[in-house]
Amino acid sequence: WRAQKYTGIVEDCCCNYETANLLNEEVLYPSLQELVKTPFFRYFKVKLWCDCPFWPDDGMCKLRDCSVCECPDNEFPELFKRPFRRGLPSDAPKCQEGKPEATVDRTLDHRAFRGWKVTDNPWTNDDETDNAEMTYVNLQLNPERYTGYTGPSARRIWDAVYSESLSTDPSEELCQEERLLYKLISGLHSSISIHIAADYLLNEDTNSWGENLTLMYDRVLRYPERVGNLYFTYLFVLRAVTKTARYLEQAEYDIGNPTEDLKAHSLIKQLLYNPKLQAACPLPFDEAKLWKGQRGPELKQKTQEQFRNISALMDCVGCEKCRLWGKLQVLGLGTALKILFSDNGEDKIFRTLQRNEAIALINLLNRLSESVKFVHEKGAALERTMEQQ
Ligand code: FAD
Repeated sequence: WRAQKYTGIVEDCCCNYETANLLNEEVLYPSLQELVKTPFFRYFKVKLWCDCPFWPDDGMCKLRDCSVCECPDNEFPELFKRPFRRGLPSDAPKCQEGKPEATVDRTLDHRAFRGWKVTDNPWTNDDETDNAEMTYVNLQLNPERYTGYTGPSARRIWDAVYSESLSTDPSEELCQEERLLYKLISGLHSSISIHIAADYLLNEDTNSWGENLTLMYDRVLRYPERVGNLYFTYLFVLRAVTKTARYLEQAEYDIGNPTEDLKAHSLIKQLLYNPKLQAACPLPFDEAKLWKGQRGPELKQKTQEQFRNISALMDCVGCEKCRLWGKLQVLGLGTALKILFSDNGEDKIFRTLQRNEAIALINLLNRLSESVKFVHEKGAALERTMEQQ
């Protein structure tokens, strides 16, 4: 299986499958698993309740597992809570994470996170500086997993996302720039399907959760192109993260607990300055090769518009938890695109990296890393079994 299909360089990247798996196992996966649990990286600011701009709402998913869960009282760090003001009702504000009227202080970005800017990302549709309808969600309490969201609503979104990412006839020979969005989206789609398969509701009566390997085979493994695109997206995002290493190393991760701040810093260093990573795959993706031809600038602008439209489609995802992870991961991809393809000098890009973008980028890389690990560990045996049937 692996020997035949997934050896050699991952298409359009500078690193091979074997190295990607080894690095993931030994360096990335263990550090990322810890990093996403730290307070700085687990509270994501998101606008969850917006109207879909493309078609009328066809009703939200009503399943319990679709909704973003409210956090228990006192779950947020002190810094996040709205300061008590005299004259307001005296009952202490209850944390209502996941509700528009949440008591979380939305002015936080401006006053609390030292060293982080709030700027708009040109690759995404949401205005990231508009805090009005945003809320903070604890990602650890809302894992990406099977929710039961399916049918025409989900299908319509994927169809629209793919038609946006491939504006040319797919049968035509495409250059690397024209393939880029399709590959990133397909890689993300593979990763979402793998998370659904890895954490699946096996029995509604007994509420038992577990792996659904048949689903993983049917949706991802039986299509080598989808596996390849998962590795491509993983290496692309990894390159964006390593490119910002100098900035991430110096950034502030303190949200009121110096021990956690130190931990986040040391995990970032462990992740980005690991000698194995530097030796085995110093340049996972070479962004300097793109947009060079005569049509380069025009293609880049078109790609940016297409990606903005894809990002707007996330408001149409009819399941709260899927929308949360859809928005986070699309912002993560938008951040990777911004880091790798901004015309501004490197320093300017890093200085405009916002806290939420860093969170999206690291959590996206963690999701992709989990998917790569799952495919690597389960793929061979699973494919043999399926082929024998
Ligand atoms: P789908 O996964 O809907 O795929 C639709 C079509 O896209 C396929 O028939 C195939 O032609 C093509 N396709 C599939 N995979 C790829 C690929 N990797 N590359 C290229 N083409 C591909 N459900 C959950 O349970 N939990 C979630 O967290 C979740 N998050 C979601 C986030 C978003 C943004 C969206 C749009 C949907 C999400 N869903 C989630 C729904 C889930 O992705 C599926 O749509 C649903 O499970 C129905 O699956 P399906 O078998 O119809 O195929």
